[in-house]
Amino acid sequence: MENYENKRKIMVKRLKDELSISESVEKAMLEVPRHLFVPEHYVSEAYNDYPLPIGYGQTISAPHMVAIMCQLLELKEGEKVLEVGTGSGYHAAVVSRIVGDRGLVVTIERIPELAEKAMELYERLGYRNIKVIIGDGSVGYEELAPYDKIYVTASAPRIPEKLVSQLKKGGKLIVPVGDFVQYLYLVEKDHHGRIEKKNWGAVRFVPLVGKNGFEE
Ligand code: SAH
Repeated sequence: MENYENKRKIMVKRLKDELSISESVEKAMLEVPRHLFVPEHYVSEAYNDYPLPIGYGQTISAPHMVAIMCQLLELKEGEKVLEVGTGSGYHAAVVSRIVGDRGLVVTIERIPELAEKAMELYERLGYRNIKVIIGDGSVGYEELAPYDKIYVTASAPRIPEKLVSQLKKGGKLIVPVGDFVQYLYLVEKDHHGRIEKKNWGAVRFVPLVGKNGFEE
């Protein structure tokens, strides 16, 4: 029997030392059992810092990417967050621990099997502040808009305008943009509704597929 908790502690300590993550991100990543979010075959690699296949041609993001995105979003307790691309469900689980019971994570996944698996895991772990939606998240999720924060875990051809419009004033959106070469963008909407975009450098994500994404 492997000691997952110990492996998790070592992983988080390395992220903390090398990325200077905040206490809330650290605490959330210490809590969420990443090994339950990867296929059984990869369980022994769950606490290494790289992406892993989760089936259907998709991947669970590397832990450092989850940490960096949480950090850039400056997540706070009580916030309503939209995630596009549930995948394994790991990233949304981490975010849900940060926003807490007064907050909410709405996460959209286009592949029903992945969405259902994530729902089952959340049920098992008792994570009740996450709502999983099956559908095309490239158009956002108008029903529960506006959001304090939005992040996309698949690369879009351009910054999806629908997502910008579903952001509250003072909100932040993170989205990888590009096809062969991709860059991580932080989009901020100030209190007057003005938009500012910053490029945080090159990244590697699976493609966003849908109306405001790439063609299948
Ligand atoms: N956050 C995930 C990363 C998953 S990879 C994790 O922690 O594991 C990105 C996911 O985005 C894939 O599961 C893919 O199916 C999904 N995806 C791609 N285009 C999408 C779209 N338009 N709407 C919703 N999900 C999408």
